[in-house]
Amino acid sequence: MEKIVCPTCRKDMGEHDEWQSYLCLEKFVKVATNPVAYGSVRKIVCPMCKKDMSEHNQEQTTECLNKFIKQVTGKSS
Ligand SMILES: [Zn+2]
Ligand SMILES: [Zn+2]
Repeated sequence: MEKIVCPTCRKDMGEHDEWQSYLCLEKFVKVATNPVAYGSVRKIVCPMCKKDMSEHNQEQTTECLNKFIKQVTGKSS
C-alpha cells in the first residue's frame, strides 16, 4: 500500500491512530480552505495531485480534500 505523508505533521499517515488522523485532517482542511485566516506563508502541497494548494480553485480544493479524506479514513472499505 502506498505511503501517505500527512500534510499537517509530515509523518506517515499509517503511523497515526484514528484520533490523530482526525485532528491532522481537520487542521489541514481548515488551512487548505482558508490559508489567509492562518496567515500561512508556507506552501501547502496537495497530497492528492501534488500541486500547490493555492493554485486550486474552490472546486478543486473540495475535490482533492474529499479524495484525500476518503483515502486516509476508508482503508478497509
Ligand atoms: Zn499528521
Ligand atoms: Zn489537489
